[in-house]
Amino acid sequence: MRKEAEKLLQRLAKEIRKCRSCPLWKTRTKAVSGEGGFKKKLFFVGEAPGRNEDLSGKPFCGIAGRFFDKMLGKAYLSREDIFVTGAVKCRPPHNRKPKKSEIEKCKPFLLKQIKILKPRLIVLLGKTALEAFQIKGKLSELHGKLINKDNYVFFLTFHPAAAMRFPKIRELSFRDMKKLGKLIRNR
Ligand code: URA
Repeated sequence: MRKEAEKLLQRLAKEIRKCRSCPLWKTRTKAVSGEGGFKKKLFFVGEAPGRNEDLSGKPFCGIAGRFFDKMLGKAYLSREDIFVTGAVKCRPPHNRKPKKSEIEKCKPFLLKQIKILKPRLIVLLGKTALEAFQIKGKLSELHGKLINKDNYVFFLTFHPAAAMRFPKIRELSFRDMKKLGKLIRNR
């Protein structure tokens, strides 16, 4: 990652850690701004921190995180190659789904991170990430596809927690990730 981008991201992470724009700050331990080496200029967006992420301040570090690494492996990628964050930076209580209002309040952070990093592709993991970018339609029909919207290029697939839980989704997510791997090697 460029030194300048790193500096700007760190400054933004400081802001994120202090954020009180929505009520989630009251129950969070640590906000999770996101991280990764970004060598291949890919920006991944998940949902929101879970318990382990909230405690450590690091994205995808629990069991869904280990599964995420497995998904990355299908595209011959590692955390060094990507940046990963969530649509929402603070853990919703009891891991409930983030509310629309929370997604909206957190969106400026996501947009600023994208502006700093200038990814060549934004990979959306699951429905909440789609919602954050107002992408309409069913993930069951859109997964594995590239979508151009608002001057961004998105690639859509499932959230690792869903892929880990449901064998059918796992199979589809692995197929998507292999496709993503081919796509970035040919671009
Ligand atoms: N988004 C997720 O879905 N999980 C994380 O750990 C962080 C962001």
